[in-house]
Amino acid sequence: AIEAKISLITEKMVQALLPKRYSDTHKGSYGKALIIAGSFGMTGAAILASKAALRSGAGIVKTAVPKELSVIIENQLIEAITVSLEELWNQDNQQAFRLKGEDAIAIGPGSGRAEAFKKLLEAVVEEATVPVVIDADGLNLLAENIDILKSLKAPCIITPHPGEMARLTGLSIDEINRNRIDVARGFSLKWKVITLLKGARTIISDEKGNVYINSTGNPGMATAGSGDVLTGMITGLLAQGISPLEATITAAYLHGKAGDRTAEKYGQYSMLAGDILEEIPYGIKELL
Ligand code: AMP
Ligand code: MG
Repeated sequence: AIEAKISLITEKMVQALLPKRYSDTHKGSYGKALIIAGSFGMTGAAILASKAALRSGAGIVKTAVPKELSVIIENQLIEAITVSLEELWNQDNQQAFRLKGEDAIAIGPGSGRAEAFKKLLEAVVEEATVPVVIDADGLNLLAENIDILKSLKAPCIITPHPGEMARLTGLSIDEINRNRIDVARGFSLKWKVITLLKGARTIISDEKGNVYINSTGNPGMATAGSGDVLTGMITGLLAQGISPLEATITAAYLHGKAGDRTAEKYGQYSMLAGDILEEIPYGIKELL
């Protein structure tokens, strides 16, 4: 029998977890997030995730994209630093992933599934010493070599929707949706990662199988780019130094809250992921 507990995420809980701002601080105090995302045809994912990290309070965001995309990214994302994917590799040793003082990493939104990107993902999983969020195509590539999770040194958060979870587990989407808690918990216990299983009532399981159920959000959030915003929010909160579980819970709640505010403003039919991004500040302000 499973002894781990199941709790509902409440506003009070999230209020207590939100990182504080203190007067004697500078941008370095609020952490540096590295977002490895985007590919030809999917630059928006990198922009949405990076902006969401900044909107969630990260001091500095560095966005790593294929070099040929840097112009279009920088045109849309003026507050982040852009680097090329090649710059993440240690120049002396092509197999080593090099961190430069980043406090949290996200990898996968809109990245595509190229072989070179798979190598980078594997290097990040094996060598990262700070929390890593794996999402989207990062998860699809992970599904091709899931045993690599055994070599994790750092805490890891995976954020699959049911389709991505199906690829990771070999279960059908139907089986996943009928047993959302057990599936998320089972994955976390097996691989020692935090699992955030998306959908109406997002489920979060920690590595011990404790489960947290989110109450915010609405079907208007079923729109392209919505998940990229969530990934950025988790990473931005991680950069500020709260624990991986706390960052995941806080981001899930605030993402849904921003989505609920967006639905009030634009309606569930017409809301865009970029609109959710613009509501993050007001959702956070309500809790301060
Ligand atoms: P993605 O599929 O990666 O773009 O992520 C979609 C995001 O929107 C996730 O955070 C989901 O939990 C959320 N979402 C999608 N559909 C719904 C729904 N019907 N109710 C609440 N949240 C949803
Ligand atoms: Mg997604």
